[in-house]
Amino acid sequence: MLEPDKLSICCDAVRDWVNENYEASYIIGVGALSLASWALDPKKSKKRALGIFATALAVGAMLEPCVNVQSQVYGPVLSHGSRQKRCVALTFDDGPSEYTGSLLDVLAEEGAKATFFCLGEQALRYPELVRRAEAEGHLVGSHSYTHRNLLGRLPAASRRQIVTGAQALNDVLGHYPLWFRPPYGMRYPWTILQARQSGMSTVLWSNCPCDWTTPGAKVIMERIIRSFQPGDIILLHDGGGDRSQTVIAVRYLIRYLHRQGYKFVRVDELEPAE
Ligand SMILES: [Zn+2]
Repeated sequence: MLEPDKLSICCDAVRDWVNENYEASYIIGVGALSLASWALDPKKSKKRALGIFATALAVGAMLEPCVNVQSQVYGPVLSHGSRQKRCVALTFDDGPSEYTGSLLDVLAEEGAKATFFCLGEQALRYPELVRRAEAEGHLVGSHSYTHRNLLGRLPAASRRQIVTGAQALNDVLGHYPLWFRPPYGMRYPWTILQARQSGMSTVLWSNCPCDWTTPGAKVIMERIIRSFQPGDIILLHDGGGDRSQTVIAVRYLIRYLHRQGYKFVRVDELEPAE
């Protein structure tokens, strides 16, 4: 039997493989389901099984650009900066919250700038923290109003989330945000267009340590380092749950990358990718 630590390493490895090869995982998955439907079909119709396989592949191909954080098919998104410069952008979603103050302290003490993608409803709850983040040189962007997954929603509902989220930040800061990150990174072609009509460019990420799973500060840092590349936009969270591990991980990550000569910049300061 596997020991718990070996089991967790194994689960991490499988999760990483699926994350990095999700197109292949999807094809394997729908292939297995089509095969199962053929095996269970009393008539053993190959045509039917192939039809299911082809339909699932077509649906997958249409949905892939909605969830692929690097895909530009449904509109331009910023997912990383130049791979030639020793720059990195920390981004924090779902806040502000009771953890944002500690995070701002860490960023100030370690000399790093970051980007906060705030929820409109949280910004109205903690307006002082949003103003403090901006006053200390960080960039404030919008992460919608209440963090509804925009996938599966009609364009009017998506527009409402985008417009009210930006309006809340305007109420707090006195100006509209220029940057938008859709909840879960999911978007339809019109999501990016609606953000653009509200004056915002869409930002996603290239490095995601899944800090919301609260695996411990050390693991959060290890996950970032394992897949780290210059110009990365790192997805972290300062709201939506207990973020004390994220606050600790950020301090050690900044020290580690500072020693390697990296500069922590806002997403609007990243050199464009080649
Ligand atoms: Zn979020």
